[in-house]
Amino acid sequence: MYEYDVVAIGAGSGGCASCMRSVDNGKKKVALVEYRKGGTGGTCVSRGCIPTKALLRSAEVYAEVKNAKKLGILVDGARPDMKAIQKGKNQVVTQLKFGLDNFLLKSRGVKRITGKARLLDPHTIEITDGDKVSQITAENIIIATGSEAVRIPVFNIDGKKIMTSDELLNIDYLPKSIVIAGAGVVGMEIAYLLRTLDVEVTVCDLAPQVLPLVRDKDTVDAVKKTMEKYGIKFYLGQGINEMHVDEEDQVVCTLADETVIKAEIGLVAVGRAINVKGIGLEELGIEQGPKGVILVNEKMQTNIPNIYAVGDITMGPQLSHKAQKQGLTAADNICGIESRINMDVIPSATFIQPEVATVGLTDAEAQEKGYETLVAKKAFSSNEKALSMRETNGFIKVVADKNSHRILGTIVFGPQGSVLIEEFSLAIEKGLSLEDIALSIHAHPTLSELAMETCKLALGLAFDK
Ligand SMILES: Cc1cc2nc3c(=O)[nH]c(=O)nc-3n(C[C@H](O)[C@H](O)[C@H](O)COP(=O)(O)OP(=O)(O)OC[C@H]3O[C@@H](n4cnc5c(N)ncnc54)[C@H](O)[C@@H]3O)c2cc1C
Repeated sequence: MYEYDVVAIGAGSGGCASCMRSVDNGKKKVALVEYRKGGTGGTCVSRGCIPTKALLRSAEVYAEVKNAKKLGILVDGARPDMKAIQKGKNQVVTQLKFGLDNFLLKSRGVKRITGKARLLDPHTIEITDGDKVSQITAENIIIATGSEAVRIPVFNIDGKKIMTSDELLNIDYLPKSIVIAGAGVVGMEIAYLLRTLDVEVTVCDLAPQVLPLVRDKDTVDAVKKTMEKYGIKFYLGQGINEMHVDEEDQVVCTLADETVIKAEIGLVAVGRAINVKGIGLEELGIEQGPKGVILVNEKMQTNIPNIYAVGDITMGPQLSHKAQKQGLTAADNICGIESRINMDVIPSATFIQPEVATVGLTDAEAQEKGYETLVAKKAFSSNEKALSMRETNGFIKVVADKNSHRILGTIVFGPQGSVLIEEFSLAIEKGLSLEDIALSIHAHPTLSELAMETCKLALGLAFDK
């Protein structure tokens, strides 16, 4: 009756995952609509997670080379070659897109449709590709249109001197200096990247702390102190009035207290605007919440039962793995497989060095929810592996329910934090206790022993109390 069983709108993390799972679950006619040419993988692959991490890897290697003397290795003449760094990053992105296009989507028979999609009724989608306008019909529709960098007029973004992350991740030169509006994850990762590559970096934010979504003063203070040690300057707790390019081609950033910061280039990283306009939501009466997010139930269904929404356009953190899991959840439910997503256990990582990774509740959040908490914090300086690596900055902080000892949340600020957090994600997802981690044997010497030792500390079982 309909041309397609499932159509996903947007080829990002959410859309791609939902199409693949729909086919794997037995749906024969599955289509993926994307308006960007070469847009497979969405923000994550082209403009987000992957390009940042590929660039950061080069910066990390440079930092290691600069610090190699500490480990007895003498290196002369190391310097970053931004054109080569970009080339390497582009190869990673191209390889990933090729794999997604050919090995994962094409091999499953997912039909690719190029154009901008708009819902006309619960089963009809209009596709506009240049002058060509067509329609397709689908039994089930998954909206996965994601987000774009916020563009506020006072920042005068021109994409050349004052950029969003989209443009900045493609610069093939190193500026002398940069002023960054926004101390969130994107602002901090790019600040760390460029500072490590010897650029003078200044970061401003209206929020009084770095990483405003991390509600743990201890952690954000430690992160800021570390970044300041690298030479990054911060202006926090001050509104940013405007940015512009002056007659000397300098970027001028003016704060609410009239502080003026000048730099060679500017980056605006003050948030992401969700793609919910012009796709037919209002016309169909699809319910939206704060800032226009599409409201969905645990199955990812909107108030129109055959229309699902996943990824950045829904409530919760804007993260690729959240989008992907939601895509899988939507596809399973469409195919009659009961599936729910636990939005309380979504790990998050910021890939500065040391890495910052969080999952579950902070102590403050747990107390707000009425828990009596048990909190333990242990420094990487007490861990033999970290000591051997000469990477002792940071700590693990575990929050548990004082009565049941069930783990409620964890923050890792330290080497390989994004890897170490996974043990705690699993523990929280499965309702495990401090004892479960403290009493299971961890290989020695490893960074993950600190996870065990922090849980032991909470239970009064640590050697060094
Ligand atoms: C610089 C940066 C770094 C990041 N780093 C990380 C990280 O390390 N880890 C992490 O988990 N997350 C990271 N993110 C966030 C992550 O990229 C997003 O959360 C994720 O990509 C969201 O996936 P999505 O499927 O919801 O949307 P998107 O990936 O944004 O994909 C949506 C797609 O829909 C298309 N589209 C929009 N409207 C239409 C329409 N009407 N018709 C057809 N197509 C349409 C868009 O062109 C786009 O390709 C980062 C983001 C940025 C900007």
